[in-house]
Amino acid sequence: MNYGESNIPYTRISEHKHFTPWESHEKSIYFKEFSSLCGDNDIPYYPIRLVNDKILLEKYFSLARNDSGITFAGRLGSYRYMDMDVTINEALELSEKMIKDINDKNSIKSFYHEF
Ligand SMILES: Cc1cc2nc3c(=O)[nH]c(=O)nc-3n(C[C@H](O)[C@H](O)[C@H](O)COP(=O)(O)OP(=O)(O)OC[C@H]3O[C@@H](n4cnc5c(N)ncnc54)[C@H](O)[C@@H]3O)c2cc1C
Repeated sequence: MNYGESNIPYTRISEHKHFTPWESHEKSIYFKEFSSLCGDNDIPYYPIRLVNDKILLEKYFSLARNDSGITFAGRLGSYRYMDMDVTINEALELSEKMIKDINDKNSIKSFYHEF
């Protein structure tokens, strides 16, 4: 459940038993998520493309474009925030294009999507 109201301190509650409604459990567990800025001791979960990050990213991308035999994809490979539906859709599209390249005896591309 998402909570966008300003008077509620958390942004969502996840109760995992609802992912498997066909199961029954005596107990449940749920998590509340609170938004906060990433501190020094936190794991930076979200890619944020600030100006310096973008300069560094471009260097990684040009190295990657000149590499062969490796394809970069997904959230880490493209350093983008991606929801799961987008990630899965891009992975399926990438697979089709990569399989075609392999069958056509072409070398595989570093990137199959433009960002
Ligand atoms: C806190 C949080 C909440 C989210 N909530 C939602 C949501 O509600 N709905 C939604 O649709 N999406 C959500 N997302 C986004 C979703 O999780 C991502 O879109 C999805 O997981 C991206 O899949 P991926 O395979 O590209 O990357 P990842 O799932 O990040 O997979 C990358 C994998 O590579 C592995 N790896 C890293 N470095 C190396 C290495 N050097 N060698 C080998 N393996 C390596 C990692 O361990 C990881 O398993 C959320 C993400 C976060 C962080």
